[in-house]
Amino acid sequence: MKHITDPLLQLLEPYRYVSVVCGQWGDTGKGKVVDLLADVWADAVIRRTGSANAGHTVVPKDKETILHLIPSGILHDARGLQNIIDEGVAFDPAEAWDSEIVPLRADGIACTNLHISHMAKLLLPQHIVMDMVRETSPGEFKVGTTGRGVGPCYTDFYARTGLVVNDLLNRDVFVRKLRQNLKDKARLLSFADPEIVKKAMQDPRLGSGIYLKDGYHGQADGTGPFDADAIIEHYLRYGERLREFIRDTRELIRRLINKMKHIVFEGAQGTLLSVDYGTYPNVTSSDASFHGLTHGLPIKREDIFSLMIMKAFYMTRVGNGPFPTEFGGALSEAWCRHAEREAEEGQYAHLTVNDPDPFLQGIAIRMAGHEYGATTKRSRRTGWFDLPAAKYARLVNDTPNVVTTKSDVLDDCDTIKICVAYRYTGSNYHLGDQLLTKGTQFTVAPMDDFVLQYCEPEYREFPGWRSKTSDITDMRDMPAAFRTILDFCENEADFHTQICSVGPKRSQTIIRG
Ligand code: GDP
Repeated sequence: MKHITDPLLQLLEPYRYVSVVCGQWGDTGKGKVVDLLADVWADAVIRRTGSANAGHTVVPKDKETILHLIPSGILHDARGLQNIIDEGVAFDPAEAWDSEIVPLRADGIACTNLHISHMAKLLLPQHIVMDMVRETSPGEFKVGTTGRGVGPCYTDFYARTGLVVNDLLNRDVFVRKLRQNLKDKARLLSFADPEIVKKAMQDPRLGSGIYLKDGYHGQADGTGPFDADAIIEHYLRYGERLREFIRDTRELIRRLINKMKHIVFEGAQGTLLSVDYGTYPNVTSSDASFHGLTHGLPIKREDIFSLMIMKAFYMTRVGNGPFPTEFGGALSEAWCRHAEREAEEGQYAHLTVNDPDPFLQGIAIRMAGHEYGATTKRSRRTGWFDLPAAKYARLVNDTPNVVTTKSDVLDDCDTIKICVAYRYTGSNYHLGDQLLTKGTQFTVAPMDDFVLQYCEPEYREFPGWRSKTSDITDMRDMPAAFRTILDFCENEADFHTQICSVGPKRSQTIIRG
C-alpha cells in the first residue's frame, strides 16, 4: 500500500487533526476514510455527534465490519489507537454492548482503548418508543427516522430532563432520574393511540416487549406503560458491563491534544442533514458538519485538515425531505419508503445503469452501489451529483478539501449528468430578504426545505468514461472523461480533490494531494 501511505503522510504532514465529514446527505464512505487514516496516521479517533443511527462500513481487506456507535478506528485497537465516544453522542448502551462490543470481541478486537464519555447523552428504551410512536401515528410530522430514539434523546437533553451515561454507574441517581423521565414520557404517550404505543413497545429492538407493563395504563407509579423496574435492572447491568470504558473524555482529549497526538474527528450523517445547517426539519438531531466535530476544543483551525467526503458523481438520501436531483423524483421517494433490498434486487436484476427511465436508472445505480442502509437496510434514494448543494457544503464546512468516493459505481454509465443550478418553480415565497418568483435561479442550494421541493435541477451532460477504474492507483491513470468531469466540478465549486476512492477496500484509494 505504498501508493497510499507515503503520499498520505506527506499530505497530512502540516496538520495535527483531521476532520472527516460528509458533504452530502450521508453514507458517502466516511468509515473507509477514517479507517485509512487510522491505519497510517492517527493516534486517536473521536466521535462527537450522532448516535447508532449512523452506520459506517469498513472493509480493511476482505471482511466487512459495520459500526454504528463505535469509532471506525476500533480495528486498530490492538496497536493502542484510542477510540473515543465523546459527550455529544446520544449513547445507546444496549446497541454499544450487544451489537458492537460483544461481536468485536468475538472477532478478536478487545476494545481495550475504547473510551465512553461519562457525560454522553443516555439513549433509553423510552426514546425508541417515542420515536416509533411519532413516526407511525397518523397526522404527525415525520422525518423518516431510523426509529432509534435519537431525536427524543437529544430533545430530553435540551429540555434538561435527560440522563447521561454517568447515571448508569449510580443506582440511586439512575432510579430517581429514570422514573421521572418515564413519567414524563407516560404523560405524553397518554395522548397517543394505545395500540400504536403497544406496537412500538413490542419492537424487537426493545427485546420484544420486556419493558411493557402488564395492564398497560394507569399504573400507580405514574410510569404508564413502562416497566420501570425491568428497565432499571436491565440498564444497571449495562452500566456494570460498560464501567471499564466510561470516563471523563474531555480530560482525556485535552491530554491527547497537549501531547501533540494525531486526532481524527469522525463525522456521522452529512452536512445537509445537520440540525444547524441542513434541510431543517428533515435533518438529524445533531450538527453533522465540521463545526459539530470540533466545537469547544482548544485547537487551532489551521491545525485541522478538514476533509469533506462526496460520492462522485451521484448522491443518496435516506428518509424524507427534498432531493432535487433524485432519479425518478417523487416516485422514487415513495418507493424507497418501503422498498426492501432483496425484493428489489430480485425484481430488477436485469436493469442497467443506462436505463432510459430515470426511476429505473436510480434503482440500477442503487443496486450497483449497494446503496442500502447499514443500519436499517432501507433503500437509499439516489440522484445525480448536485453542485449547488456541494457549493453550500463547501461554504458551511469552510474547506476546499474533498474526498470523492464510489465513482467506480458509474464505470458503465454512458452519460453522467451534473446538476449545475436549480430553477425555482413554486409560487411567490419570501426567503429572508429575497422574494422568490417562478424561474428564480440558484447556483448555491438554499437550505430551505420548502424551497428545495420546488427546485428543478438544470443539468450539464458529460460522456461517461466506460471503463473499469477500481484497480487504478494513480490519478494520472484515471480515464480522461472522469478527470474532465472532476475538473469541471472542482472549478465550479472551488474545491480540490485530495483523495479519490475507487472501491471499498483500503487499497482501492488514490492519494492525489
Ligand atoms: P459512511 O456512513 O459515510 O461511512 O458510509 P457507509 O458505510 O454507509 O457507506 C459507504 C459504503 O460504500 C460502504 O459499504 C463502503 O464499504 C463502501 N465504499 C466506500 N468507498 C467506496 C468506493 O470508493 N467504491 C465503492 N464501490 N464502495 C465504497
